[in-house]
Amino acid sequence: MNLKPNFLTVFLILFTWINASSQSVFKNDDLEISKLEDKVWVIETTDKTTMYLIEGTKKAMLIDTGTKCEKLDEVIRKITQKPIYVVITHAHGDHAGNIRYFDEIYLHPADTVLLDKTYKGKVHFVKDGDVFDLGEKKIEVSHMPAHTPGSIVLLDKQAGSCYSGDAFGSGQVWLQLRPYAPMQTYVESCKKMEKLMDEGITKIYCGHYPYVKKAYDKAYITEMRSLAEALINGTAPEAKPHTQKVSIGSANPMMVTLGEATIVYDPEHIK
Ligand SMILES: [Zn+2]
Ligand SMILES: [Zn+2]
Repeated sequence: MNLKPNFLTVFLILFTWINASSQSVFKNDDLEISKLEDKVWVIETTDKTTMYLIEGTKKAMLIDTGTKCEKLDEVIRKITQKPIYVVITHAHGDHAGNIRYFDEIYLHPADTVLLDKTYKGKVHFVKDGDVFDLGEKKIEVSHMPAHTPGSIVLLDKQAGSCYSGDAFGSGQVWLQLRPYAPMQTYVESCKKMEKLMDEGITKIYCGHYPYVKKAYDKAYITEMRSLAEALINGTAPEAKPHTQKVSIGSANPMMVTLGEATIVYDPEHIK
């Protein structure tokens, strides 16, 4: 029996279904914008950075600004015409790369040291508990240091969503970047996130969505915390060298994995 036509049919149905479910609404050479939820879009760049756009009845919020995106402001205007808050989860270049297109940004002050010093716009500082009212949508700031000192996540408690930047990684969290934070700082941020998830947050949309294409649940954060605690206690699974070197990281990063969670760290900076 020749199975080829059947296989092709299944493939075509799957292909059509996958295309329909991603709901792409805009695409250019730099990025693709897809509808994620009602009034929420994910913007994925070709070099796998991620932005999220949330629209309320009065204002919109752009979370992060990606890397190479020509005229990002004009691209965003294709989706929403509402006045926009540009909030940066942390000041790494792959999350704050296009701030030059915006007159003002919101950032946690502890990440000022990492911010592009050529930025001419106004920097507003945010703190834990600050709330942005977009009109029928409220987005709350929660400080989650470790990946960087000023890493924040943005919570839409009504929708049960958290936009996490790199605070808990995208499968792999980098905790060996200058300025170094002790591993215990990450444990505390994981505990804080687990508590928020006990109180109603169910979806964590990470800062590099193209790698995972899903929202993480609480189990992921719990694995991250368990792994960080095991590193502190010396009971972690065997670590291996991480081959990717970054200029702001340690010379000899190590990586260790538990379930879906991987921590990249510097053995010299656990405590
Ligand atoms: Zn980062
Ligand atoms: Zn990143």
